[in-house]
Amino acid sequence: MLKEEKRQILIDLMKKMKADDSLPLKSGSTNLVFGEGNVDTKVVFIGEGPGFYEDQKALPFVGRAGQLLNELLTSIGLERKEVFITNVVHHRPPQNRDPLPEEMAAYQPYLDKIIETIDPKVIVTLGRFSMGKFLPGVTITRVHGKPEVITWNGRTITIVPMYHPAAALRNGSIKLQLQKDFLVIKEVLEKIEKEEEEEKKKPKQESLV
Ligand code: URA
Repeated sequence: MLKEEKRQILIDLMKKMKADDSLPLKSGSTNLVFGEGNVDTKVVFIGEGPGFYEDQKALPFVGRAGQLLNELLTSIGLERKEVFITNVVHHRPPQNRDPLPEEMAAYQPYLDKIIETIDPKVIVTLGRFSMGKFLPGVTITRVHGKPEVITWNGRTITIVPMYHPAAALRNGSIKLQLQKDFLVIKEVLEKIEKEEEEEKKKPKQESLV
């Protein structure tokens, strides 16, 4: 799909979401935080839900955790505008509490459509809620920084589970681990690019019809 087509689908989806009064966290929040970034990216980052500053600005990861995320991206040579960043729920939960299972379920069709439209090769999950969407039943202490190739809605996607940047702000050893784990994203992207190059070099099979 062309970038312009993707952009249009996502603009329409955002409009639909803004008008959807059935979304359970809508009434307690100021703004919809749909997500932002490059719709044609190979890598999508999925956090938990908007906090105070995200709710005010209608943008994901713009508070302290967002500042750390920006630094982590820079550390692996990625700019924030090159990737797409979104959340499991797109309105701020009251007092920044964890999103409830039924709330995540209500936002799920929208998140799925965002992922299907962008069609990334890699999804970096930030924290246990987005990790649980793709890798149910695992614990973050065991799998952080370990890429896992999955089939999701018919697509092959490498999931890279990470600690949430907010957890890293509270705990220095988690921060060190997160910095180390981010290097894995770079390795995964380089591997995928290499595979794509190899694929391009292969002679194309002639059509039989
Ligand atoms: N934490 C999240 O999980 N998402 C945001 O957008 C901001 C903070």
